[in-house]
Amino acid sequence: MRSKSGDSTPEAVADAPTLRGIRVIIAGPLHEAPPMRTFANARYTVSATGMTNLPTADRPEVAFAGRSNAGKSSALNVLTARKGLARVSKTPGRTQLLNFFECDGVRLVDLPGYGFAKVPPKMRQAWGRMIGDFMRYRETLVGVVVVMDVRHPLTPFDEQMLGWSVEHGKPVLALLTKADKLSFGRAKAQRLAVEQALRDAPGISVRLMSATKRTGVDEARAVIEGWLPTLPAVPADDAQ
Ligand code: GDP
Repeated sequence: MRSKSGDSTPEAVADAPTLRGIRVIIAGPLHEAPPMRTFANARYTVSATGMTNLPTADRPEVAFAGRSNAGKSSALNVLTARKGLARVSKTPGRTQLLNFFECDGVRLVDLPGYGFAKVPPKMRQAWGRMIGDFMRYRETLVGVVVVMDVRHPLTPFDEQMLGWSVEHGKPVLALLTKADKLSFGRAKAQRLAVEQALRDAPGISVRLMSATKRTGVDEARAVIEGWLPTLPAVPADDAQ
């Protein structure tokens, strides 16, 4: 509790003015709350073929997974407010790699997905080894965003990603994107159905988003923010 001046000592609270006998406690200035990351100014840094050539594990990392065409690139672009950021992951030679972006002291890792087309078993095995090892051994990985098309959630690809995340103790944001493709009621029902299906799995948050309409963006950011160390508070003098 804070007094009008933002001071929260017992004396200051006791001295706070009263309105018809009710003591009026006014919250301190908003800039005293820990600032939220914006993930703005994200930039591509490097790609890796697997565990042997990863960047130094010196900061928290958030991985993004999604079956091809689920809307992962659009989600990354809108979350970082960088139009075209994730296009780099789709350039020839990078589609099968772990692509790293940096912003706000955090690394975002765009994991390769695959699509409807039948993927040769050998390729799927190589993918499984790379992603499975990354999820298991990357100590700086703090959470995984599994991007799913709200109309077709929980594909075998998604189940695999969710399974690894839970198995290796990583919290998950199940991000149901393209919400604008459904009515408000249908989208909400899909979210409830996914929550219900995952109710026994620990550490999974389900959110709706539309990259096109830019809805649900702050809610998704807030879940990711919760996995990250708190940013240092901005000193009052710098927050004007
Ligand atoms: P990725 O293959 O998972 O990276 O998917 P993309 O982000 O490239 O999106 C695949 C397609 O879905 C593209 O045509 C996007 O324009 C479209 N898309 C992505 N997000 C949304 C969304 O929120 N709403 C709608 N209506 N379309 C979307």
